[in-house]
Amino acid sequence: MYDPKSLKASEFIDHQEVLDTLALAPTLAADRAAVAAILDKAKDRKGLNHREALVLLDCQDEDLNQELYALARQIKRDFYGQRVVMFAPLYLSNYCVNGCLYCPYHQKNKHIPRKKLTMEEIVREVTALQDIGHKRLALETGEHPVYNPLEYVLEAIDAIYSIKSKNGAIRRVNVNIAATDVPSYRRLRDAKIGTYILFQETYQRDGYVRLHPSGPKSDYDWHATAMDRAMEGGVDDVGLGVLFGLEGHRYELAALLMHGEHLEAVHGVGPHTISVPRLREADDIDPSAFGHGLSDDVFAKIVAIARVAVPYTGLIVSTRESAASRARVLDLGISQISGGSRTSVGGYYEPEPEKENTAQFEIADNRSLDEVIHWLMELGHIPSFCTACYREGRTGDRFMTLCKTGKIQNCCHPNALMTLKEYLLDYATPRTQALGDSLIASQIGEVPNLKTRDLVIQRLAAIDQGQRDFRL
Ligand code: SAM
Repeated sequence: MYDPKSLKASEFIDHQEVLDTLALAPTLAADRAAVAAILDKAKDRKGLNHREALVLLDCQDEDLNQELYALARQIKRDFYGQRVVMFAPLYLSNYCVNGCLYCPYHQKNKHIPRKKLTMEEIVREVTALQDIGHKRLALETGEHPVYNPLEYVLEAIDAIYSIKSKNGAIRRVNVNIAATDVPSYRRLRDAKIGTYILFQETYQRDGYVRLHPSGPKSDYDWHATAMDRAMEGGVDDVGLGVLFGLEGHRYELAALLMHGEHLEAVHGVGPHTISVPRLREADDIDPSAFGHGLSDDVFAKIVAIARVAVPYTGLIVSTRESAASRARVLDLGISQISGGSRTSVGGYYEPEPEKENTAQFEIADNRSLDEVIHWLMELGHIPSFCTACYREGRTGDRFMTLCKTGKIQNCCHPNALMTLKEYLLDYATPRTQALGDSLIASQIGEVPNLKTRDLVIQRLAAIDQGQRDFRL
């Protein structure tokens, strides 16, 4: 029986079950009929469990793997159309009391400059983010009870929602901060956060303990049960992730899906998003020292498997990945990406001087937001700045129900076109604007029903006349 007070991670990340899954998968993966049956099941678009997903991961048959990729592409198209939701991270502070061996913000790193944005600096950063067109942020902080208490984060969220530069506004603030207790999650919910994001980093308990030698984050159970407390505190949308490259990826994929299965079983709704960060070089950090680097092929396969295993869950890739890697995984299932990102504390308003580098990791895609938007459209995607679901109360199980009935498309596609139009008018370079306008013109006919189509045409004209923030 689920009891939030005594919940242990082992109740849903059952180590023996993961080991059994990993032991069984190679045999089934060598059996063409078994793999074909799993792919057939995936075609129902109701997802796969962790055991089935691992069989796909271990499958070496080229034809069957191509079938998997084709299905991932098709499911992406059926559920998300050509849309890609845009966001940017905003690092508030790199003060941290944890000892995470892979993160340059770890407490023992004495040479990285420590920095925390003041409210004035937050206003400057958010204004700069608005002025390039962002509408959705992911807030990031280290864990520090004195420098970054919850009150600081709440004050920042409040400030961010109130900043309005020209036609700009941040309409959804997602939050990636350390695991906390139910009353604190309730306060984050009341502050109107979007998704609460927390990466497990690794689900392998031994590895986790080794990689987190000190600080509150060293408690595996506290960290792994955070999403249950967040949901208990009324946060509807939670985002999972592992940091690929720390430990073996087969274990991570099985356990990540088990975590999602647990949330769905207990709270009636699975993860809103899954992120797939890969370990990057950083001050003090050499990814090769961890010995579990993933090839681009395996990384792409993990994304494809996640796409067919959890069709309703948004998949996020950041600027940790290069343009080439992002293009590949966008095709296979990624639905949200960041653009024009800085992983330093500050840096949007003015670039950090070299010697004050506070970056958490090196970015592999350094292009501006406008360049990313142009590139996405060239590849046939529709960049979307939509935040409507959350603002219309379509979160948690309400959102999932709309997804499962396919009705969400009636809102998503028009909202993507309208928010893209806003972006083009307010922020785009002429060449991006021209490409975007022809994309929108070619997409109007795809709006599901005639009445909605007329409404979207009217609203696009109103946006042209200076009105903003329409949403379905
Ligand atoms: N402080 C929060 C916590 O403890 O969970 C999370 C915020 S942290 C700023 C965001 C994420 O960056 C971490 O969860 C980790 O997965 C990732 N990260 C840390 N070091 C990294 C590195 N060297 N390369 C890539 N990602 C890294």
